Amino acid sequence: MRSLFASFLLMLASVTGLAPLSAQSGVQDGPTAFDTAIEAAMDTMMADPEAALVFSQEALELAQKQSDDERDQNRATALWLKAESLIGLNRLDEAGDIATEALALVKKAAPGTKLNGDVLRSRGAVRALSGNVQDALTDYQAAHEIYRRAGIKRSQAIALNDLGQIYWEAGDYQRTLKYYEQAVEIYNDDPGFRLGNHNNLGETYKMLERYGDAEREYELAIAAARELGSPLLETRILSNLALVQIEQGKLASAERTTARALSLARSGEAADWRDFVYGVQARLAYERGQNNRAARLLDQTFAGADLSETDLLFREYHALGARVFEEIGQTSKALAHLRAFQRLDGQARDLVSSASSQLLAAEFDYANQNLRIAQLKQGQLERDIQIERERSEFRTMAFVGIAVALSIVLALTLTAFFSIRRSRNEVRAANEELTLVNADLEHALKAKTDFLAMTSHEIRTPLNGILGTAQVLLASRALDDANMKRVKLIQSAGSTMKALVDDLLDVAKMESGEVSIEMSPTSIEALVKDAGYLWADKLREKNVEFASDTSDLPALIETDGGRVRQIIFNLLSNAVKFTREGSISLRAWHDKEAGDVIIEVADTGIGIPAEQQSKIFEAFHQVDNATTREFSGTGLGLSICKNLTAALGGRMELSSEVGKGSTFRVILPAIEVEAPSNKNDERPTSLSECRMGLLEANPMKQAILMGLIEPHAKSMTGLSDAKACIEAIDANAVDHVVLDAGCVGEDEATLADLRELLTHAKAAGVPTTLLFSPKSGLPIEQITQLDHSQLLLKPIAGDALVATLHEYYASETTPKTESDVANAA
Ligand code: ADP
Repeated sequence: MRSLFASFLLMLASVTGLAPLSAQSGVQDGPTAFDTAIEAAMDTMMADPEAALVFSQEALELAQKQSDDERDQNRATALWLKAESLIGLNRLDEAGDIATEALALVKKAAPGTKLNGDVLRSRGAVRALSGNVQDALTDYQAAHEIYRRAGIKRSQAIALNDLGQIYWEAGDYQRTLKYYEQAVEIYNDDPGFRLGNHNNLGETYKMLERYGDAEREYELAIAAARELGSPLLETRILSNLALVQIEQGKLASAERTTARALSLARSGEAADWRDFVYGVQARLAYERGQNNRAARLLDQTFAGADLSETDLLFREYHALGARVFEEIGQTSKALAHLRAFQRLDGQARDLVSSASSQLLAAEFDYANQNLRIAQLKQGQLERDIQIERERSEFRTMAFVGIAVALSIVLALTLTAFFSIRRSRNEVRAANEELTLVNADLEHALKAKTDFLAMTSHEIRTPLNGILGTAQVLLASRALDDANMKRVKLIQSAGSTMKALVDDLLDVAKMESGEVSIEMSPTSIEALVKDAGYLWADKLREKNVEFASDTSDLPALIETDGGRVRQIIFNLLSNAVKFTREGSISLRAWHDKEAGDVIIEVADTGIGIPAEQQSKIFEAFHQVDNATTREFSGTGLGLSICKNLTAALGGRMELSSEVGKGSTFRVILPAIEVEAPSNKNDERPTSLSECRMGLLEANPMKQAILMGLIEPHAKSMTGLSDAKACIEAIDANAVDHVVLDAGCVGEDEATLADLRELLTHAKAAGVPTTLLFSPKSGLPIEQITQLDHSQLLLKPIAGDALVATLHEYYASETTPKTESDVANAA
């Protein structure tokens, strides 16, 4: 990513470095073998770095043999040139090592000299080239400081250009401008510098959309190119000029400028640039609405070029090509240009983003830099006079050599340098566009997720009303058979719809990262048993065998019981859906070695083809075959299971064979926990904050009551027997228990169990709502004496039950000691 501009500046440094050395040695003894080798290295550096490497190695060996004071300094000079030739050969690692070695020597032998600055610049270049912008910046700053102190204005201007270049790479054109402006102020004395400086400024103003200023700078650069006698450079800058004229809508001026460029590019070295002049003309034609002419000119620009291999220089012409060819209906050409543009755009963007992020990290002390620049300006004049006097004799001798070398170097390096400049012209615009598109996309995605979450939520509320009312109607038994069937239909369709809406809401939450997980001590055994109860009936209807088994599980693990229940429910519902005959099993066990609790749902159903096995975990994905289509579903269940399992710190596994069946495993971390000894102080103050427990042995009744209460509570856990209920209380997994007095038995002996259970709940601060049927065998007087918080006489209508539960929290914020006896209508 090092720009060729940097090479250009390096060569300037090399050339200026040459003069004093030769002068010193030459005046005294005539050139030594060392001087000759150094000179040869410099002469060949640009065109033949391989040769330069040989010469610099030779110089190094000669310096090694020297014994005088200058030995180390000469070795450093040779090492510096060696590093430069290695840079030219793109052998960066070696170049970096050699530059560091040179730096160590020069710091000892000649600290604060121009050579010191030059070696720093070389190392900076290696670092910039290796993408290490941050350290490159440090080297360039250090080099600049040395030149500044030593009053070497020319080198100082080069270092300022280096620094500006770094910010240019990072797309920070404001700072780039500061450095380039400063460089012009410090040194603008010969046409080579003027050309580079003004073109730099022009390019920077262009990026800042200060087209008028850019135009002025390009005119100055063009004058300098003429002074240098370089038609190629003149042509290139004329093209730049034409483009900013087009930007300003000065189409007639742009026409004249391109005409000048084209006449220069008819022959000689400038002919190399002719294709690009056609490109500029194409742009002009396009602005004038002459699309066919633009297309012809673009064909000339790209004549013989392989569109998939063009370099950054062509980037904006590809963009133009994509537009022009599309507008004249040559779609395939438009597409080829678009692809090329995207390829180059990606490259350009990578360059900018890597540099800019590094610069951010560098936290470059910009204010301090400005201050230094200001101080520098103040002291500059005095130093100028003194230094000019000291250096005047060198100047005279060096001038001719420098001028000749400069023009050669400039012609070679600026050719490449400008190409990079031009290619970046629209990088910033493209970046901004991309950022906008990204923001739009993010916005749209969020809107979609929000919409999904909001609508699912809005549908859920009335749906709960429908389901609740259906439940109440079914429970009241006030309907004749025909109407009962209809209401059952409403209920079953409603339940399906609710499951779907719940799934959608879950998916929406997962997409927005809002899935809520509440870890608490959970009994997996109780969950598995509950699920077994709930599904047993349904499976019996289907004639599928069902077995549920738990062995050796930890009493409680830290996980979210509600979510685990949801996962098991989804897996069982799939197993039931996709199994026509055979068996389904639900098992859970503790893999002590791995520290996992494993819940497994296995079926002997239709199975899943191997190539589909990873895909079915994606949202909305279903195996596409006749069998699947036969079953209803959304394709959300498994994606929810997978996400929830991951949120619980676990993972899912699947093995399946078509026609034989499927086995899904949920592997959860077995974080064993003790049941909390003291209860949570934070009691829920409303039913909706309540994690309800329901102790009801009959799964059908349990399902109905769950359906009634769940919409009003925070969560709802079905408990199958007194033991499970006590465990849930101990595990602080429920805040309130609704229980049917009949669930522990219908005789006096079981009254003791009931009493124990209620006392236990009370001691734990868990309110209880006891449902009691006077028709049961239990003595009503004793029941009323028990330690429950509420007593409800059965039969009770569902809405009355819910209302009573609400009332408990409306009137109480602490558990009741006395019973409420509500007799429902
Ligand atoms: P849904 O069941 O609503 O379609 P899921 O995400 O739960 O959505 O499942 C996705 C797909 O995976 C199903 O449509 C089915 O093709 C396949 N699948 C899931 N579980 C089973 C199973 N136990 N047996 C066979 N195929 C299954």
